[in-house]
Amino acid sequence: MNTIVCKFGGTSLADGNNIKRAADIVLSDPSRRYAVVSAPGRRFSEDVKVTDLLYACYKDSVEKGNCSEAFSKIRKRFRSIVDELGLSFDIEPVLDKTEEEIETYKSADFTASRGEYLNARIMAVLLGWEFVDAKDIIFFKENGTLDEKKSYPLIAEKLAEAKHAVVPGFYGTDAHGNIKTFSRGGSDISGSIVARAVNAALYENWTDVSGFLACDPRIVKNPERIGVISFKELRELSYMGANVLHAEAIFPVRKGDIPICIKNTFRPQDAGTLILPSKQYTPQGNIVTGIAGKKDFTVIFLEKSLMNSEIGFARKALSILEKEHINFEHMPSGIDTLSLVIESSYLKGGVLDKLIEEMKDALAPDYIRVLENIALVATVGHGMAKNVGTSARLFAALSEAGINVCMIDQGSSELNIIVGIDNADYEKCVRAVYHEFFEK
Ligand code: ADP
Ligand code: ASP
Ligand code: MG
Repeated sequence: MNTIVCKFGGTSLADGNNIKRAADIVLSDPSRRYAVVSAPGRRFSEDVKVTDLLYACYKDSVEKGNCSEAFSKIRKRFRSIVDELGLSFDIEPVLDKTEEEIETYKSADFTASRGEYLNARIMAVLLGWEFVDAKDIIFFKENGTLDEKKSYPLIAEKLAEAKHAVVPGFYGTDAHGNIKTFSRGGSDISGSIVARAVNAALYENWTDVSGFLACDPRIVKNPERIGVISFKELRELSYMGANVLHAEAIFPVRKGDIPICIKNTFRPQDAGTLILPSKQYTPQGNIVTGIAGKKDFTVIFLEKSLMNSEIGFARKALSILEKEHINFEHMPSGIDTLSLVIESSYLKGGVLDKLIEEMKDALAPDYIRVLENIALVATVGHGMAKNVGTSARLFAALSEAGINVCMIDQGSSELNIIVGIDNADYEKCVRAVYHEFFEK
């Protein structure tokens, strides 16, 4: 039988009713053998996610020595979930032990992981499935990356024994035996790892939208749903901020050529989005597949006559960043110009001034300029390479909307065009590109 691994996000599991809905989905197809769950998310827009409540518990346990006040909110959430579900699961001793462990370990990762742990325990009781703790099957190496050699065989073995299992998302065990979480939204990665380990036929990612949308629904109302998208396009869009799926969730399933399906827990009848490995993907006939973006970048613009004939100029510039442990996002260049696009968070506390001084010393540019508060917007699609005039349409649309473009980068794969604009124009820019390619 083809195995499906299904992952349910926090908004799908925010309260007892939603958890029941998720459980019904799981049980409606016998191929769904393994479920990976997130911590309860927001029930309404001003609500606080359980993971955020847990980070507050961590803070209190470090600063005050105990977290009983903050933990009482977690107790209330999980108690009411168990009550709403009418489960005969005595969660009180589990909650007591969790509070005690949070106060004893004083570990941010351990504390944050408890939302997934507790929710998975509840889901396992509800489904009548085994609970398999992620700490026993997902392992990280000393450098913080997934220990594939250790994790994959263990996951496969433990889950084959269990036949059906619920696994908490978001965490595993580090090289020293401590709980370690992925970055925020990381249950998507856990689901992908489990899918790869059991060689699933499909990795289903159940969330609160009916698929990957052509752009952020918080910016454009009811954007078009993307029916089919390639792994490459997904990687570009999720990296550039379309956080419906964690940007790193693609890697485990990509190695196993396992398709991903994004589905809506609240509208399971909707088709969702199918994300396909290159081998299985055929062009869909559209020019642009999707638009995504992120705010808060800084552009360092360097100009120097005969820069192109100065061997090692770019290397020297990049080695200054390397020395300061700073990642760069893009490096568009011209004959005598080079721009470095960097996430502004790296440059706080005098780091930017230090970099500029070092660049002046090492590179002796004729001119150096810094642009701050820059947003990047990526327009992505395999169809862009084949359609002459796509960039002309894009830039005409931006100009019509009165948006000043300060940086352009077109990936060599011609899969995307990224523009740098003022933070303040971000939403306007996404709307203008969406209008040009999806509403005309
Ligand atoms: P989950 O709790 O299921 O992990 P997330 O909040 O991580 O859910 O991701 C789903 C949310 O991602 C949606 O509610 C939507 O607001 C947001 N989002 C941003 N960009 C997109 C996009 N291009 N398509 C769909 N959703 C998007
Ligand atoms: N609960 C974690 C978070 O809020 C992980 C996840 O939801 O995927 O980031
Ligand atoms: Mg998520």
